Amino acid sequence: MDPTPAPRDAGIAPPRPPALTAAAVRALIDRVPRVRLAHLPTPLDELPRLTAAMGGATCPPLFVKRDDCTGLALGGNKSRHLEFTLADALRQGADCVIQSAAPQSNDARQLSAAAARLGLKTYLLPRSTLKVELQGNLLLDHLMGAEIRFIDPQVDREAEKRRLAEELRAKGRRPYVMGAPAVPECTAIAYTLCAVELHEQCQALGVDPAWVYVCSGSGVPHMGHGGGTQAGLMLGGKALGRRWKVVGLPATRIGGDNRPSIAEIGNGAAQRLGLDARLEPGEVINTDAYVGEGYGLITDACREAIYLVARTEGLLLDPVYTGKVMAGLIDHIRAGRVGRDEPVIFVHTGGLPALFAYRDELVGAPA
Ligand SMILES: *Cc1c(COP(=O)(O)O)cnc(C)c1O
Repeated sequence: MDPTPAPRDAGIAPPRPPALTAAAVRALIDRVPRVRLAHLPTPLDELPRLTAAMGGATCPPLFVKRDDCTGLALGGNKSRHLEFTLADALRQGADCVIQSAAPQSNDARQLSAAAARLGLKTYLLPRSTLKVELQGNLLLDHLMGAEIRFIDPQVDREAEKRRLAEELRAKGRRPYVMGAPAVPECTAIAYTLCAVELHEQCQALGVDPAWVYVCSGSGVPHMGHGGGTQAGLMLGGKALGRRWKVVGLPATRIGGDNRPSIAEIGNGAAQRLGLDARLEPGEVINTDAYVGEGYGLITDACREAIYLVARTEGLLLDPVYTGKVMAGLIDHIRAGRVGRDEPVIFVHTGGLPALFAYRDELVGAPA
């Protein structure tokens, strides 16, 4: 992993092709098969009281892109991804979908919701040996009819997914296996569209963002992929001629250089869309400096960020993903890495049901 790059110094941009209009990029995206699931565009809100609490005149203007409001069973970035990945599943004639993730997976929850709406059965293989409480995302998976079978985190999840797919096929079902290696460029295409929305909303507000902060997956196939959200925001910004630099802060320790994988996902999307823009690994800004001890383990800075944003703006962040990104943004502002004349967009990627599974970490264990 890149040692906490100073965003100001990172990002060596190759020569830019001429900017496209929002309508031109939308037209390219409209050619990709898609099922409508999300409430779009999501709002772009100002965060004036958070900006004031962060130092007012010395803090850049802060905005939030509300992708926690995508409408699909409490929302999140996966709702956008699923519009494209499930179109692929339907095209293949699937009657059920299979995914394996953490018990508090937002992906699994939005998949369960989308599949219910499309009349598909969901099979989930959460990875845990512990007795897991039916709470947060997992409770919602259950309510929406997902069949849940726990697997040992040590076993190869892709092999388990394939084994279940064979079992279902033998019964005459038509399963679609989600995640690696299925169409990672779809997730970046979905976020190229989010970039178009942001571009239009910023035009309407007269704001020219310098930074986009977003929670990012690893981008690495053996870590379950992800990274498409960051890649799409980068690609869309480039295609539209925006100056914004995207800072991706993962929720998992990466332990390697994931920038080539993220660039590759973006370039897969560019190719599929017929866009001229290309991402170079050297312009990907992605650091796991704010993960703390590991995935799903809350940090003090994350807890502080959740309380600060909740109490200044009535805006909820989650303890696994967005809280850690806000902690990173706050740290970068305090350290002067983000200048006061550099407006920031915080992309809220969702994850809120996990709040209820983290009660003790947030307020202390009951006496
Ligand atoms: C999955 C997820 C991400 C990461 O998105 P990728 O496209 O996989 O990188 C970020 N935030 C939340 C809340 C998520 O659930």
